[in-house]
Amino acid sequence: MQVLKFGGTSVANADNISKVVSIVKESIKKDRTIVVVSALGGVTDLLLNAGTLAADGDETYKDKLSLIEQRHLEATKQLIPVTYQSQLLSLVKKSCNEIEDICNGIFLLRELTPRSKDRIASYGEWLSSQIISAKFKAEGVDNVWKDARELIVTNSNFTNAEVDFPATNDRVNDFFSVQPASLFVIPGFIAANQNGITTTLGRGGSDYTAAIIASALTAKLLEIWTDVSGMMTADPRLTANARIIPHISYQEAMELSHFGAKVIYPPTIQPVMTKNIPVWIKNTFAPSDEGTLIESAANKNGNIVRGISSINNIVLLSLEGSGMIGIPGFSKRLFEALSNEKINVVLITQSSSEHSICVAVDAVAASKAKQAVDAAFSNEIALQRVEPLIIENELSIVALVGENMKSHPGISGRMFSAMGRNGVNIRAIAQGSSEKNISAVIATRDVRKSINVMHEEFFETTYKQVNLFIIGTGNVGAKLLDQMKQQLDFLQTQMRLQVRVIGLSNSRKMIFKTDGVDPGNWKQQLDEGETANLEKFVEEIVNRNLRNSVFVDITANDKVAMVYDQLLQKSISIVACNKIAASSDYENYKKLKDLAGEYNCQFLFETNVGAGLPIIGTLNDLMRSGDRIHRIDAVLSGTLNFVFNNYDGKQRFAAVVKQAQDEGYTEPDPRLDLGGTDVMRKIMILARESGEKIEMTDIENNSFMPPSCMQGTVIDFYEAMSKEETHFKKLYEEANAAGCKLKFVASYKDGKASVGLQHIDPAHDLYHLYGKDNVVLFYTDRYKDQPLVVKGAGAGAEVTASGVFADIIRASK
Ligand code: ADP
Ligand code: ASP
Ligand code: MG
Repeated sequence: MQVLKFGGTSVANADNISKVVSIVKESIKKDRTIVVVSALGGVTDLLLNAGTLAADGDETYKDKLSLIEQRHLEATKQLIPVTYQSQLLSLVKKSCNEIEDICNGIFLLRELTPRSKDRIASYGEWLSSQIISAKFKAEGVDNVWKDARELIVTNSNFTNAEVDFPATNDRVNDFFSVQPASLFVIPGFIAANQNGITTTLGRGGSDYTAAIIASALTAKLLEIWTDVSGMMTADPRLTANARIIPHISYQEAMELSHFGAKVIYPPTIQPVMTKNIPVWIKNTFAPSDEGTLIESAANKNGNIVRGISSINNIVLLSLEGSGMIGIPGFSKRLFEALSNEKINVVLITQSSSEHSICVAVDAVAASKAKQAVDAAFSNEIALQRVEPLIIENELSIVALVGENMKSHPGISGRMFSAMGRNGVNIRAIAQGSSEKNISAVIATRDVRKSINVMHEEFFETTYKQVNLFIIGTGNVGAKLLDQMKQQLDFLQTQMRLQVRVIGLSNSRKMIFKTDGVDPGNWKQQLDEGETANLEKFVEEIVNRNLRNSVFVDITANDKVAMVYDQLLQKSISIVACNKIAASSDYENYKKLKDLAGEYNCQFLFETNVGAGLPIIGTLNDLMRSGDRIHRIDAVLSGTLNFVFNNYDGKQRFAAVVKQAQDEGYTEPDPRLDLGGTDVMRKIMILARESGEKIEMTDIENNSFMPPSCMQGTVIDFYEAMSKEETHFKKLYEEANAAGCKLKFVASYKDGKASVGLQHIDPAHDLYHLYGKDNVVLFYTDRYKDQPLVVKGAGAGAEVTASGVFADIIRASK
């Protein structure tokens, strides 16, 4: 004998039922077969909904009932040839009238008891199984329909009845041993108590019906046919990357289903496990897919972690108090109070100080639990030895499941650090001593992210997903998106990073794309976006709560720099091309660095100094390896270097500056470069990264710009520079006469920093510096006599974008 169970979606409508019929036709060639079916998908909800509406005095219950009737009539008409239809149609009509009578009664009484709930719900499976049995007959496949209420005996715990196995096993064996038929059709989910009153086995219970019958008959196998091709490494609705688990042990399948893997109803495994009956999970809509085999010994070669699951609607109950320490019996009384109220405890933790016991239960039971526990400890509470029960809401449990975990240290470490890196706060932890399951209680809003992060950590050797939120699409931003377009494949195949731009904004528009903005076509997509709004942009990043999120600021905007702290506090890394934050007050700079440390994320701004040159990275590496910086000499303005390399007193100074701006080397406001402010910010950042507590006002600026040039608008600035041409020419000629070049040099030494124009002679390290190059000389403990030199192009959109890109990769690692 073999038992095949078909779930709600498998029998949702005539089309799907036809698929079921062909699967069964194949199966009966192999063995005698029992088919257990669920109600047509969604019907149980409709039925219970109708009951609730009726009890609330809401007449729209009638609409639900007519919908139910319609669905069954339609399925009948489509499946059964007209000549055979009438009997089934009147059966459907008759049952629907009965349901209506019951609901009318409920409407009058305004009362829906668990017993009447079961009565109403039972019609779903009753009707679907009748239709399917008739369909087989119409196709010439002989079969016997049998009411499960005559086979499965339960107690009277309506809506979630417990099975009386000895009585059930007898009835099942008595019935099937005398029935010669080769195909049986049985409604799942429903049963009856000793007095024949209808009960149900709990929502999703048709799986259980099939397992109970399979076990009673020691069937050769049980197949659960559903709408996915097997049990998966995680809920496919939460993780797009979930994979089918080909083999799994009974124990693991049981843990996964208990912890929320809806694909099997949790009690299902127990009866088949005791008889060692193999269970297959198969897909009605892709019958040739292999599916999952559940059996006693799992394949040892599989992953260490077999699957990940989650349960929502959890509350955490904490019983705390100094009066509990060292006194036995407190936990016993807590659990007794809960069990007297039939409250199921999902997870337990107790600290070794015994100061508190913490249990997780279904949210529905919260207020009942509070009453029961506070009553049980009323004396202690009155004496202030114990606090009244504390309840925390909106929680969920996520769990890692796998039998092999017990022989592998470090699994929980990986689990919690992956969650920690993504800002998921863990409220309670439990690990059974069997080590088959590690569970954590977290906020419900973090579930999707956690499942994805854990899935990535334990199952996705292929790649890690990085979610970018980019603001600023000027010269550098556009180049960055260009470079990303070219690099995405390489990153995925070589670095195992899947980088996606989830959010993109400039000052006018913003867009969010769950599957990522296409970097080849970002302009058009952005044009079609909504009006830009920084506050909303940040809100969206936080609400999306995606793993490995990185905020990329490619603006020069002070408002954008002000949102970093909010994001860092959500463990979202910042990559800033914008120099404002790192060069703001020391206090703010320090706060951001500290937040990044505290929340396990990164605050990176390599491109703040020398564009794409590895200057800050090199400095950080020196510091981390224990070196100390004594002195820095540097030419840090690509713009100024370009200007002084190209200015020879023949062309006007203003024209050379304009050329630098046109070629994209200057800040949006070129006065920041010419006046030395940009260089001051850079040397300050280097000094700060060297450990110096330094502010802009501590830096000496020996500006070469006449004050007349630094007023008014950018246009005024160019005009004023033209007027001052003799001043600039004189600077050049003096240097030239001395055989020197002009360089705008930044220095940091003994805690002091200064910037200014200097005559550099040919023997100097800074002399041979061409185009828009930058150079930094680090004098350290280790590089005493000859400095460590970093030199190369220090401005330009292309190199800056590549520096931002490198920071993004660094933040993702
Ligand atoms: P049926 O109606 O066939 O009983 P269910 O809806 O009860 O089907 O269960 C199948 C669904 O369970 C799938 O569609 C899937 O969305 C969900 N599910 C949750 N967790 C898992 C998991 N780990 N593996 C497979 N499916 C899962
Ligand atoms: N029809 C019932 C439910 O929806 C039982 C089942 O489908 O397994 O809960
Ligand atoms: Mg189910």
